[in-house]
Amino acid sequence: MRRSRGNVARELVSQDSMSQGSLTVGKRQTESAWPQNLNAIDEDQLMQMAPGDVIVLHQSPSIRKHVASIFYAIVACPACGAPGLIKAQQYFGVISVVCASDLCSCHFRIHGRNRLAYLPVN
Ligand SMILES: [Zn+2]
Repeated sequence: MRRSRGNVARELVSQDSMSQGSLTVGKRQTESAWPQNLNAIDEDQLMQMAPGDVIVLHQSPSIRKHVASIFYAIVACPACGAPGLIKAQQYFGVISVVCASDLCSCHFRIHGRNRLAYLPVN
């Protein structure tokens, strides 16, 4: 736990210094407004998901039965708010998440089931 939090801090620092050179002022302001943590919400808030909101499917039986079992949670993209299904490996930070929207290239990793670390777009 303690070790992974240190990694998050380092990644956020390097992410900051990289984005300063490559993004316009307007985009940089938007990025700084992206949430740093996931926000767990109830299944009845599915239609009102805000960026960074997450619904864990095994706690949401009414959604769970409509979703393939390989998926673990629904995350609203922290950049654009588009909801996307993620697998357990993504929820637990083993692999990163790329926004499902064609109009958005947000790439992030979830640390400790809560912290959001933004990654460069490949
Ligand atoms: Zn997005």
